[in-house]
Amino acid sequence: MGALTVTGAQRDGETVGVRCEDGTITVIGADLTPAPGDETIDAGGMPLVPALVNGHTHAAMTLFRGYGGDLPLMRWLQEKIWPVEAQLEAEDVYWGTRLACAEMIRTGTARFWDMYWQPEATARAVEDAGLRATIGGPLFDADGGTAEMQALALADLDALAARGPAIDVALAPHSIYAVSEELLRWAGEQAAERGAAFHIHLSETEQEVVECIERHGARPAAYLDRLGLLGERTVLAHGVWLDRAELELIAERGATAVANPVANLKLAVGGVFPYPIARDAGVAVGLGTDGAGSNDSLDLLADLKTFALVQRHAAADPTVLPATEALEVATGNRAPLLGGGIEPLTPGAPADFLLLRGDSPELGVGNLASNLVYAASGSAVDTTVVAGRVLMRDGEVEGTAEIVARAAERARRLGIG
Ligand SMILES: [Zn+2]
Repeated sequence: MGALTVTGAQRDGETVGVRCEDGTITVIGADLTPAPGDETIDAGGMPLVPALVNGHTHAAMTLFRGYGGDLPLMRWLQEKIWPVEAQLEAEDVYWGTRLACAEMIRTGTARFWDMYWQPEATARAVEDAGLRATIGGPLFDADGGTAEMQALALADLDALAARGPAIDVALAPHSIYAVSEELLRWAGEQAAERGAAFHIHLSETEQEVVECIERHGARPAAYLDRLGLLGERTVLAHGVWLDRAELELIAERGATAVANPVANLKLAVGGVFPYPIARDAGVAVGLGTDGAGSNDSLDLLADLKTFALVQRHAAADPTVLPATEALEVATGNRAPLLGGGIEPLTPGAPADFLLLRGDSPELGVGNLASNLVYAASGSAVDTTVVAGRVLMRDGEVEGTAEIVARAAERARRLGIG
């Protein structure tokens, strides 16, 4: 792949250029001139910002967007989602994920953390779309027994490990209530052996906490820690009901929490991720959309506004989360595991960045960080670059019409829409 040079972008009030080679930023600064043979973009004064990281989703669930969306959680799962998921083919997951990727590219997400069936089809879609993802097939105890689940998971892990550099591998046991202690321990061992991430839903509902205390005599994070599963490669999605002691334990172990405010509001879980306590305890925190089945959007900038608003509201304190800090949460810059642990837009950082419509009504006047969090949505993104590849220019993602048509076909095959 050839090099890409962007000139004439705006950053912190200065005009800058960026040169990218082999998926990495090699130079960033003023007065950058493209080398002969470089692909070039003249940003024409557009603001340059880091790309976003979606810390928790189920990408292929775009196929189920709005399907049974007004039902209570368990009826939604039992009457709508689980019956269609039982019929899923790899091509359904592939086109559902391509649809998700198209939306993420349009709205500025470069990397996402996925948990879904047929993870190899997800990986294929991510590579074809040009994004990056950490992917795990979900583990459940429900059907087929533990041995069958383990065999399936091992096959998925091997298949994912054989894919290209855009794909990272995770073990993804669904939750502490849907997975036995034995299978959780096994997943932890596999993750440790393979240097893979460990991605799990934790403390999403109050009922989960009550049942965990009844069954295991400990709150969810303490229970996971007892099994040796809280570590630097652990990602905990939701965390709505984590208390201070759990958050201190999570910080001590170096695990990451991912808030999913819109999915929590839509499923009416009755609480808010305790961000100020998590931050003050030193927990690495990221932001996720959760699946399009329970959000229903993958526009992380839109969710960022919700995140900031519910935090301010829950704390009854408008100073609790400054806009610049909120943006850092959405770019993975406050969670080394999600963001790669390297300051974005510096030499050596992944070449993942956005050019914004700086002259749009939402961004044209005032402070960029504040406007991005509170005024703009993903439609403010003009250009998306991931691993030094231009995936969107002028708001157009190549092939979108075909992707939408193919995904709609797959959804109809499943009896939706
Ligand atoms: Zn989820």
